[in-house]
Amino acid sequence: MNDVNSVKIFPIGGVGNVTKNMYAYEYGNEILLVDCGLGFADETMPGVDLLIPDISYLKNTNKKIVGLVLTHGHEDHIGALPFVLPQLPKFPVYGTALTAALATEKLIDFGLQNKVLVVTPSEDIVLGSFNISYIHVTHSILDAAHIFIRTPVGNFYHGSDFKFDFTPVDGKPSDLAKIAKVASEGVLCLLEDCVGVERSGHSRSERMISDSFAEEFRKTKGRIFMTTYASNISRLNQALQEGIRLGRKICFVGRSLLKSRDIGRKLGYMDIPKGVEVKPSEAKRMKPSELLIILTGAQAQDTSALVRIANDEDENIRLSRGDTVIFSADPIPGNEVNINNLIDIIAKKGVKVVYSGLTDEFHLPALLWVPFRAPFPAMAQKMM
Ligand SMILES: [Zn+2]
Repeated sequence: MNDVNSVKIFPIGGVGNVTKNMYAYEYGNEILLVDCGLGFADETMPGVDLLIPDISYLKNTNKKIVGLVLTHGHEDHIGALPFVLPQLPKFPVYGTALTAALATEKLIDFGLQNKVLVVTPSEDIVLGSFNISYIHVTHSILDAAHIFIRTPVGNFYHGSDFKFDFTPVDGKPSDLAKIAKVASEGVLCLLEDCVGVERSGHSRSERMISDSFAEEFRKTKGRIFMTTYASNISRLNQALQEGIRLGRKICFVGRSLLKSRDIGRKLGYMDIPKGVEVKPSEAKRMKPSELLIILTGAQAQDTSALVRIANDEDENIRLSRGDTVIFSADPIPGNEVNINNLIDIIAKKGVKVVYSGLTDEFHLPALLWVPFRAPFPAMAQKMM
């Protein structure tokens, strides 16, 4: 018999490690899923590329999955969708505009037809016995949300990654009024997820990074290379604005960045005036002082543009003395060795490298998208 006096909550991706965010809320015969993220292997896991949540419970249960709600578009919240969805019965998947666009793009990449439905924070969704409200919050990716889940047993506040930034780059601060409003309905249980929570004080606004870009860009006579997470559209906008202000042409290099640019433009989150953007083949013929190159490789991924360029393997773009490379992202734990090796290769070319070991002017440490840590073992399965 199904217990209708309680809600079970369990972390399908584990909570002991960073990443692999995926949670299930089970009431009676129904299961609501929140997020479906990837984990990343490190040097202790040779031969493993990615980690995905262990969904054996979901595959074997005879309970009904009524839907999946996504909190935001970071890989550790949406990255496992193409591996998980084909293994489960069909159910609706929801996310805010950018989250849905990034997730849908990912599914298309894997040849899947599933569409992620767009939800706006002003509407509630009903999935079986769950009534869900989205609450806009600021994070290092646009369109992030907390989820308020109403059940017959009580209300749950699912607070995924966030940072209260009162002056965010896109001008949309967290919806504190809505947080207060849903709280007034009563909260049976709050799950909260915020790196750096042990430290007191307040983290700086993302807006400060614009000043750091302005300062470094002004000092650079050669080409400026800036690398960050491709999905961090507001960071891309900050670099773009400074580059454009200084009259530099913008060149995007790297597949995931080009996708982010396209999604950002389509949703109206990125504005690149006509005539500003150049292709790598055109950048090749331009003076170094005329260029801002925004590229993939902040985590020193093997196939990224920055790694290719640093190894002189790119047909159009070479690094040379006088250039500056800015890493505007924290290293993801496990990637430090590769990133340091990449920095060495670049520095040996006489190129100035600005990275988190030298300064935190280009990233905000508390923003690293690390979910909460709790003393439970994470479950992982090797990707086929
Ligand atoms: Zn995140």
